[in-house]
Amino acid sequence: MTHEELKQFKASLSITAVARLLGIEVVRGRCRCLFPMRHVHGDRTPSVSISEERGTYRCWVCDDVRGDVISLVQLVKNCSFLEALEFLMGAFPFLVPRGAVVPAAANRSKTAPSHATSPVEVVKLPQEPLPEEIPEELVPELERKQIILSFLKMLSPVDNTPAAAWLARRRIHKPVWDKMLLRTIVDYKALNDKLKETYSIEVLKYVGLFNDKGNLRYYKHPLIFPYLDSGRRACYFQSRALDKSVVPKELNLRGTVPYPYNVSALDQKAGWIYLCEGVVDTLTFLNQKIDAVGIPGVRSFKTEWIPLFKNKNVVLCLDKDEAGRSGTEYLKEVFGQAGIRTVVLGEGLEHLKNAMKEGEDVNDWFVHK
Ligand SMILES: [Zn+2]
Repeated sequence: MTHEELKQFKASLSITAVARLLGIEVVRGRCRCLFPMRHVHGDRTPSVSISEERGTYRCWVCDDVRGDVISLVQLVKNCSFLEALEFLMGAFPFLVPRGAVVPAAANRSKTAPSHATSPVEVVKLPQEPLPEEIPEELVPELERKQIILSFLKMLSPVDNTPAAAWLARRRIHKPVWDKMLLRTIVDYKALNDKLKETYSIEVLKYVGLFNDKGNLRYYKHPLIFPYLDSGRRACYFQSRALDKSVVPKELNLRGTVPYPYNVSALDQKAGWIYLCEGVVDTLTFLNQKIDAVGIPGVRSFKTEWIPLFKNKNVVLCLDKDEAGRSGTEYLKEVFGQAGIRTVVLGEGLEHLKNAMKEGEDVNDWFVHK
């Protein structure tokens, strides 16, 4: 698992869900300390606060009882970082980044200092070993965002291009292309050359636009979906192949997803919002004038986004497959903890003739309806 994958996995885990799995009772973001003997009255009034947004816990009495979701597992199970990671990957397989494996068991035998035997001893949690060195920051984050923005400005609107025909076949029409600033690569070579003239290859690779061979990654993925923020600017995007035979059909920019697609729909006003898997499904709803946001998959969800959904009722529209179902159950719980009501798209309507079928996505369903 790379550093980036680990960061994403941790961000998607609900620390409350993990605490409950470990047998810890969490009430309104608080739980009892694991070392009640250190507390007056044995910590009858829970001293540990749990922040779902930050993914951290902290005891207000014990200086050493604090950390993130992985250190919580280490503390409770008295195990190593890798054992804790393995435990979480086993418990939440649908959140594990695709293709990620537990790092080589080099220090698996290394266990945390045993505090279970002498509870008054100061617990020293092992430093979190990062599976991969953090690459030195070649380009500062702000500049990286500006490069992505300027790349997006070099692209063409989709009108009268193969991308337009592709979208129209999926019943996604011009008002939505314009609203979401959909873009396409018309002349790959010219764009590739222009980028090389403007930036160094190292920078282009670092920001994730170029591949190892030193060319723009999106040769086979010319349709670009910018993730617009509320100011209609984007520092993240997803690209889509138009040719059915291309695998994978979508490419995400390197790094974690900063916010859901169409985040400006999360306006804190009371109402319903559809949460979809993938940009195409989100656009399908937008074309029907239904408020929707998208995530590339439940693996990309971050618990820090939950406050964005304040005042909304969420309709969960994840894919009707194994991972989608586990993800739906998980999101129901995570939103439920935050007091956000959820319903599952199509639930209770399975008997209808035109209900969504196994393996069918929202776009297929709309197009065939
Ligand atoms: Zn404590």
